[in-house]
Amino acid sequence: MSSKIGSADLAVVGAGILGLAVAREALRRYEGLHVAVLEKEGKVAAHQTGHNSGVVHAGVYYAPGSLKAKLCVHGSRAMYAYCDEHGISYDRCGKVVVATDESEVARLEELFLRASQNGVPDLALLTEEELREVEPSVRGVCALHSPSTGVVDFRQVAGAMAREITEAGAAIHTSSAVESMRRAPNGAIRLQTKTGFLEARAVITCAGVYSDRVAAMTGGAKSPRIVPFRGRYYALEPEASNLVRGLVYPVPDPAFPFLGVHFTKQISGEMWAGPNAVLAFSRVGYRARQLDVRDLWGTLSYSGFRTFARRNWRTAIDELRGDVSRRAFVAALQRLVPAVRREHLAGTHSGIRAQALDSDGQLVDDFRFDHAENIVHVRNAPSPGATSSLAIAAHIVETARDIIHAA
Ligand SMILES: Cc1cc2nc3c(=O)[nH]c(=O)nc-3n(C[C@H](O)[C@H](O)[C@H](O)COP(=O)(O)OP(=O)(O)OC[C@H]3O[C@@H](n4cnc5c(N)ncnc54)[C@H](O)[C@@H]3O)c2cc1C
Repeated sequence: MSSKIGSADLAVVGAGILGLAVAREALRRYEGLHVAVLEKEGKVAAHQTGHNSGVVHAGVYYAPGSLKAKLCVHGSRAMYAYCDEHGISYDRCGKVVVATDESEVARLEELFLRASQNGVPDLALLTEEELREVEPSVRGVCALHSPSTGVVDFRQVAGAMAREITEAGAAIHTSSAVESMRRAPNGAIRLQTKTGFLEARAVITCAGVYSDRVAAMTGGAKSPRIVPFRGRYYALEPEASNLVRGLVYPVPDPAFPFLGVHFTKQISGEMWAGPNAVLAFSRVGYRARQLDVRDLWGTLSYSGFRTFARRNWRTAIDELRGDVSRRAFVAALQRLVPAVRREHLAGTHSGIRAQALDSDGQLVDDFRFDHAENIVHVRNAPSPGATSSLAIAAHIVETARDIIHAA
């Protein structure tokens, strides 16, 4: 017989930046609300939040009118304000998206229009000479410049949120994986962990790479499923790190906006290159050979994945080539910065993207949230999810106001 570990008006599953931001937003809106956060790992920010590029995106890429566009533009403003308020360092170092030859110019101009429609501030199209003034080692025929894009350590942001919500009276239960959820006769949800259960009047789940499995615990839709993609980073050796001043990206492929290795300055002063994106054989497989049979079978047996793989095998092979061959990785970087050499790169770490895939084989592009009775599931919150976290939290808590208020 399992024992009760507590009860709450609102239980949040997952203590990544989204779960913490949601808990914080609910506590700010509803005085006296009892909030509990349940986290599988022994600490907060253990997965995507602690393994990303650290870019505060400005909202350049996203389809006008989409949640991503809206919440990223608002979210980046809110993120800088949050950092100011909590003494967290950031650097608005700016970003250039570079057309390396004439064939990419039309797409770059389209991106400029898109970003302008999204309300991204201070944008400019740079000529080749202007690009050299901003980034002397970068080669391109023209570029889009977004000076308001910056970098931060999202682990620090998540840490500040965790402190804030515990000071406001919320409990964060770490090492508490939710294994099942079921509705009690009074309508409350019983969240079962190994050590006991918690009863909550309303539940919001922000479970990252496990968001589909957690949604399935309450009968959530089978699609989309999460397909995990591993992204490898390299750090530039100190003698090469001054080749780039800020953030340098290629023009994205509209079908795969997250592909295309880039240079990312870190708030620590390091310069990173990457990440690429290859299929991960485990949802927490940060190393290339890590395999989890359930995870891999879950991916391969999903018809949505098989359709996706059939359509995109050429791109997948290109990405894999960059993953196994440092030479191919460097060649992609040299298109942007010809002076980069293989010996400038030191392997660092990887991140795993929680990318939702619909049953028809389409990547879910926008943020997606499912709402049923007194439960909200975050089903897709990839990049720029960290940048947008405060705005996503405001959006979710507003959408769920009836269920939280009723609590
Ligand atoms: C390689 C990479 C680069 C990125 N770069 C950027 C960037 O530069 N800028 C940007 O804005 N975004 C970026 N992102 C995206 C960003 O990191 C995510 O959008 C954001 O971290 C999502 O936060 P989350 O809280 O939803 O997920 P996570 O941080 O993954 O948190 C989910 C949490 O849920 C917990 N959990 C899962 N299942 C259970 C369970 N059953 N019970 C209890 N807890 C559970 C997990 O342990 C985890 O801690 C990047 C992502 C990756 C992977």
